[in-house]
Amino acid sequence: MTSEQLSPATVAVTAGRPPAVPNAAFNTPVTFTSTYVASDGATAPGDLGYGRWTNPSWQAFEEALGRLEGGRSLLFGSGMAAVSAALSLVPDGSAVVVPRHAYNGTLGLLGVLADRGRLVPRPVDIADTEQVVAALPGAAMLWVETPTNPLMEVADLPALAAAGRAAGALVVVDNTFATPLLQRPLRAGADVVVHSVTKYLAGHSDVVLGATVTADDALHAALHADRTLHGAVPGPMEAFLALRGLRTLHLRVERAGANAVELARRLSGHPKVLRVRHPSLPDDPGHARAAAQMSGFGAIVSIEVTGGPDGAERLASATRLWVHATSLGGVESSLERRRRHSGEPPTVPENLLRLSVGIEDVEDLWADLAAALDQLE
Ligand SMILES: *Cc1c(COP(=O)(O)O)cnc(C)c1O
Repeated sequence: MTSEQLSPATVAVTAGRPPAVPNAAFNTPVTFTSTYVASDGATAPGDLGYGRWTNPSWQAFEEALGRLEGGRSLLFGSGMAAVSAALSLVPDGSAVVVPRHAYNGTLGLLGVLADRGRLVPRPVDIADTEQVVAALPGAAMLWVETPTNPLMEVADLPALAAAGRAAGALVVVDNTFATPLLQRPLRAGADVVVHSVTKYLAGHSDVVLGATVTADDALHAALHADRTLHGAVPGPMEAFLALRGLRTLHLRVERAGANAVELARRLSGHPKVLRVRHPSLPDDPGHARAAAQMSGFGAIVSIEVTGGPDGAERLASATRLWVHATSLGGVESSLERRRRHSGEPPTVPENLLRLSVGIEDVEDLWADLAAALDQLE
């Protein structure tokens, strides 16, 4: 059996370990160092060089994520550092087709880069394939997020990757919500994948990290140069924690996803819930597409509740098990009204709460949520 044939669950557990030789450490140790002893003569391939260039603890995580996504990975100091590095791949003044709804940090950075004349964003409804294709001529990059944060819109990944390539645009996919276990954008034709490793990949709400993955050596080299020269490097301890988290990714994604499917179904029938957004629901606009291109529906569920923004805030502070907090993708269930952030697009409803469903017992999660919902007007 070659390593390519192993299931992703096995890769998540086994990739990025040191060779299993007598007395070797089982796990890649944390390497705290700023520099490495030089080889004789000119720098040789495989030389580590300096602590801003690479680190064995980063490399162990990169090996595992690269195998899961089907490319070469680079770990960054945050998801936004990875987003920023990916956006740096196109020349000054480039048009970039971007989802109108996406992670608000990505939208915020695009706004800053647009104000400076660095990039020209072309906002589109990413679920509307015709609209995206119509915006592509002359664009240097197509940025895809699917499912989108926080509206759970599902883009037609294979169609957009093909259209982007045909138009000569680099196709970048933010795969944070799906993880490589549910969706593999490089296989669907994308050029670069970005991740907020902070979320599902690390999975325990205890590190901030990001990553890029690409199967193209030139793009990998450009991203590596960007990381080295801008200095957005991770700490070795964070890399170790992220790899430790990644070992259970398949179990967490499976359990949290199953919880999300059940909670989305129950929430759909609750009188205080006006709308539920989760692609598992048969009447969700993204259902057919997600069923075709993903191997699960993910564990983010967005709901709109009665009582407007106040109702949503009240719900967030009334739950006891569900933690009122930003961020997502940890083992713990959390929820947040997204419009409390000024950077959130005004088209995101004021009464929308984004639920990050964790791996707790689903009956406990439902009881807590239902009790808080019952308190709404
Ligand atoms: C959180 C997030 C990011 C940014 O990642 P950080 O690790 O917070 O810098 C990017 N994209 C998506 C979809 C996210 O949820």
